[in-house]
Amino acid sequence: MVSGVPGIAPASLTGFRCRSCGADAGDGTLTEVLDLGTTPLANRLLATEELAEPEPVWPLRLVFCAGCGLCQITETVPPETLFREYVYFSSFSDTMVAHARDLAAELAAQLDLGAGSLVVEAASNDGYLLQWFHRAGIPVLGVEPARNVAVLAREKGVDTWERFFGLETARAIVAERGRADLFLAANVFAHVADPNDFVAGIEALLGGEGVAVIEAPYVREMVERVEFDTIYHEHLCYFSLTAMEAFFRRHGLRAVDVERIPLHGGSLKVTAARAGARRHPAAAVAALLQEERELGVDRAAYFAEFGARVARLREQLTALLGRLKADGRSIAAYGAAAKGSTLLNCFGIGAETLDFVVDRSTVKQGLHMPGVRLPIHAPEHLLKAAPDYVLLLTWNFADEILAQQAEYRRRGGRFIVPVPEPFVVEPAA
Ligand code: ZN
Repeated sequence: MVSGVPGIAPASLTGFRCRSCGADAGDGTLTEVLDLGTTPLANRLLATEELAEPEPVWPLRLVFCAGCGLCQITETVPPETLFREYVYFSSFSDTMVAHARDLAAELAAQLDLGAGSLVVEAASNDGYLLQWFHRAGIPVLGVEPARNVAVLAREKGVDTWERFFGLETARAIVAERGRADLFLAANVFAHVADPNDFVAGIEALLGGEGVAVIEAPYVREMVERVEFDTIYHEHLCYFSLTAMEAFFRRHGLRAVDVERIPLHGGSLKVTAARAGARRHPAAAVAALLQEERELGVDRAAYFAEFGARVARLREQLTALLGRLKADGRSIAAYGAAAKGSTLLNCFGIGAETLDFVVDRSTVKQGLHMPGVRLPIHAPEHLLKAAPDYVLLLTWNFADEILAQQAEYRRRGGRFIVPVPEPFVVEPAA
């Protein structure tokens, strides 16, 4: 559901404090941007025997803090509940693996890393990124709380500690392995429950001239492209460079470079260093901060229309799917990812519309989507069941998936890309 649902009074923000600057809801610094109602955990896929049990649901509300510019959700689901058995394996995506290989080669050359260096990655997943440094003879340490993926990383030769990254972990690493020349946080900073502790950990870990490279979805992309489905309980913070720089300043760091990259629907790749490091900030940092000020990304008004645009997208998408069903068309979905769970549950699209979901991850196949409880099959099932349409939930990998599904498309299958507005991809010639 979307904000403004009749009969549901908006819950108060009382008691909530900004995850960055600590501003209190009571002083008017925090504004609600979007209320997505209550939803199940987006990555908590269900086994068949769990279908009879009720699913826990949690409020999903996005607020903006004018004190520091950070967009964030209000609910913190205990990280142990969220991350102990993680079902997102980075290596299942060709795009991710290729991106990781290029990033590792670029950073190793740029920072002149070698056998005497140390590269540390937070939320190192299955070692998809660190493996490239390791293969080049550069010492690495992964920090990954989900034990099922940590095991896979070790199989790649990537030394991995099973824990969360923060100040305490950083101090333990320094005591055992020394300071890091490079710290990597690809798509994790937005997911940590205590981002100040995380950034304090970076400051404690980095050597004098060490750098941290942080990738996080860019809040501007979410707003401009109506990517509301990137909102889910694991994704706590929605960053602008302004909001990220506030964290850095507070902990003795500063941004020295920034780049906009296409990953995950549009992300920021920010390089940070100690405030006293020799490296001077690239012109891109001041330029993007200026651009954000001009656009007003640091003010609540920038987010004012977002809720209405999400409501309009819901109308457009459910109307399209409803017309197709009325015409007797069959529809499946592609991508058992968190954003798919958000879209289906918040828009109320379930078994009445979709027959099943397919996903390339063998770990997800045989399970069911949270909330809507659609079964998850292998992508090959598209050829077998031959649905007329496939709703592309993982639109961030659209190019890769459309290429992989050439045969389904050649046989007349159509894809529906839901954002920024529903778009039908006609069959391949
Ligand atoms: Zn704040």
